Amino acid sequence: MSSGLSVILIDPDEQTREVLISRLRMQGYRAIGFVGPVEGANAALGSPPSAVIADLWMAGISGVQLTRLLRAEPATERVPVILRGPDTPRNRFWAERAGAAAYVVKGRMGDLVRAIGRSIVPVAGEEDGFFTQLQDAESAIRDRIAAYLDDALFESVLAAEVRALSTCGAFDRLFDRLTQFVAQVMSYRWLALSVSRPSHLGLHAHPAARGECEREMRQALDLPADTAVLCIEDEDAAADPVSAQPLVRSIEFGQEIIARMALSQKEAGDRQDARILDIVARELGGPLRMALLVEETQRAATTDPLTGIMNRRALLAALDVEQSRSERHGYPMALVMLDVDHFKSINDEHGHAMGDQVLDALGRLLAHHARKTDIVGRWGGEEFLIVLSGAPESGARIAAERIRAAVEEMTVLDEKSQRVPITVSLGIACLEMNDSVDGLIERADHAMYQAKAGGRNRVVVAPTVLRRTGTDFEIPRNLL
Ligand code: GH3
Ligand code: MG
Ligand code: MG
Repeated sequence: MSSGLSVILIDPDEQTREVLISRLRMQGYRAIGFVGPVEGANAALGSPPSAVIADLWMAGISGVQLTRLLRAEPATERVPVILRGPDTPRNRFWAERAGAAAYVVKGRMGDLVRAIGRSIVPVAGEEDGFFTQLQDAESAIRDRIAAYLDDALFESVLAAEVRALSTCGAFDRLFDRLTQFVAQVMSYRWLALSVSRPSHLGLHAHPAARGECEREMRQALDLPADTAVLCIEDEDAAADPVSAQPLVRSIEFGQEIIARMALSQKEAGDRQDARILDIVARELGGPLRMALLVEETQRAATTDPLTGIMNRRALLAALDVEQSRSERHGYPMALVMLDVDHFKSINDEHGHAMGDQVLDALGRLLAHHARKTDIVGRWGGEEFLIVLSGAPESGARIAAERIRAAVEEMTVLDEKSQRVPITVSLGIACLEMNDSVDGLIERADHAMYQAKAGGRNRVVVAPTVLRRTGTDFEIPRNLL
């Protein structure tokens, strides 16, 4: 079966070489022995054999280097290399990583013969000219090995850079850092990364060419014009005119495609660009998945699932930040506690689902009414909190009254398309001297109950002791 197949055996030890060669010949292989790796590699490159057997550790060129060289050269890329060495897991690991077809413990001849039988593939045309010597074989082979090692090093450095993006924790940060380093290793007009679920889209382009780049990118990735895009604009991207079809790559995690990457080359047909993009796309799956997971976990931990606004935990954290900021800069801050009036009867009359719908509508109304600096969240059940940074009592009163009126006007229809009347009671507390978040919440809550007691659908401001106005504290008149 194996008759006529040629095998190159590299072994510096004459006796072992002879024994092995005669054993291989007995098996029907045309076995040729070489003392050193350079001669063996030269012969293999000159006329590819059916298999190469070499030691992992050889003088001059290691078995790993030899394997990489034969793997990388088109003439020998399919020739299996069987490495022999000591029986340790690390050696086996290196041999496998280098692309060896098998790793056999030195001295186990039976294992070796079986490994050859398993790995060997007949090579067409091997009958002619078994040996073709390269000119100046030694230095030619050393140069080639050096080139492949540089290549392998470049690839592993790139891969390590991409993997380091695992710690980004958010898509925006990951994309920003990705563009920073990809722009150093290749020139492009634009680079884009698109995730379908949850939808994320990043584009890096030159400021002068953003519009046209965005159009090309949407076409390349087949994205509708309204997908929100995070655009990083700087001179790291080239402003050159379009020269080629964009390169597009899928990014996988496990067996699943989780994102796509596209790039418009500065110079059409640069093969190095395509190779770098391949490496980046291959390595990016893990870090990207990690960033999306961290983002999602943080979002889930701080968002109320029913209304999509902040939950109690996020509100408390934000309140802490706002309180210390107001404290430090001496500006006012107000807290509004809002509670739906007779919410239980909405549930009782229309069902729990209707109650949920009302809460959802309320969440949206509050988010809509909030200013950029305001913080809105669901405190629990049918209670909401609004943090008004920088607002004095007068401003908070106006804001709360506006919300109260908007809720009263809000239209939520029941199952019979009848309007469900909804009102809310609101309590306001303003930050005071030496105040605490707990104290502030308690006073807002208390004021809200005063509003309930006063007949509901109204705003009540908690009485104060020492209130901030602007940069100074003002002692209320009734205390003077
Ligand atoms: P008041 O005007 O005094 O505030 O009366 P109320 O009925 O609003 O107050 P109460 O505290 O008696 O009832 C609150 C109700 O809110 C009871 C509870 O079942 C309901 N609730 C709490 N969380 C949810 C929720 O997520 N969805 C729905 N549908 N109902 C909820
Ligand atoms: Mg309540
Ligand atoms: Mg209520």
